[in-house]
Amino acid sequence: MIIFKRHFKIYAVISLLIFILVLCILYKLPVKNSLSELKPNQLRIHYIDVGQGDAALIQINNKNLLIDSGPDKKAYLYLRKLGIKTLDYVIITHPHEDHIGGLNYIIKNINTKTYYLPNVISSSESFKNVLQSLRSKNFNVSTGKAGIKIDLDKNLSLLMLSPVNNLYTEINHYSIVLKLNFMETSFLFCGDSEIINEEEILSKGYNIDSDIIKIAHHGSNSSTSENFLNEVSPKVAVISVGKDNEYGHPHKETLLKLKNKNIQLFRTDLQGTIVLESDGYKILRRK
Ligand SMILES: [Zn+2]
Ligand SMILES: [Zn+2]
Repeated sequence: MIIFKRHFKIYAVISLLIFILVLCILYKLPVKNSLSELKPNQLRIHYIDVGQGDAALIQINNKNLLIDSGPDKKAYLYLRKLGIKTLDYVIITHPHEDHIGGLNYIIKNINTKTYYLPNVISSSESFKNVLQSLRSKNFNVSTGKAGIKIDLDKNLSLLMLSPVNNLYTEINHYSIVLKLNFMETSFLFCGDSEIINEEEILSKGYNIDSDIIKIAHHGSNSSTSENFLNEVSPKVAVISVGKDNEYGHPHKETLLKLKNKNIQLFRTDLQGTIVLESDGYKILRRK
């Protein structure tokens, strides 16, 4: 009897464990977000590690804005892990695969209020697919260009500094460049803009002085001129780039410029996703 009782206990425990396992498989357990809840008027920026490409998420007061979608599903999976169901804005800086390739996952799965794209077309398959999906969903799609202001939150200003015209020969030159000011802190997002765009931005006289710069074009030597970097005078630079990419990004000339100016550097290929937070006065990095 004692033996039976002991076996019965073991069977009962095993049955219970199997039952729990089946429940876990049938009902997806809620994903725990390791990042704490944002406090009111706290800004959080995620430079998402998407490999070779760009995707940055801006969050404040329950609003979400995504700049670029990376080349594949990674950015979407990151948003899903954070539990994001709505994006107030998606800004695609330009229609190169490493910035727009993941957009279809976002269009299909995340409700987005407004899209911004620059006024340039690409012959790539993913660009055609994206346009088709956007049309079929009847989403609000606007043209991004210099001078456009994005109304994300009353404490925050977001201004497009580029592109200034429609006559460029390179798709990178159509990149939407964004300046974000949040009280006394500031961030610059450069897409894949190049030196020609930097000169235009400088000649327009915009205030580009920023605490943080997302370095243009994955650290390519065709961007980040000495003049531009002097004018931005950042404390910190972020390079979004894939390990061992075929372009040799980031180029050593860019790394040297940052080093010579004692600018602290974060790289997604070395450190993964970089998360920065601002209370309007100081900026901290979350580990
Ligand atoms: Zn790129
Ligand atoms: Zn590009």
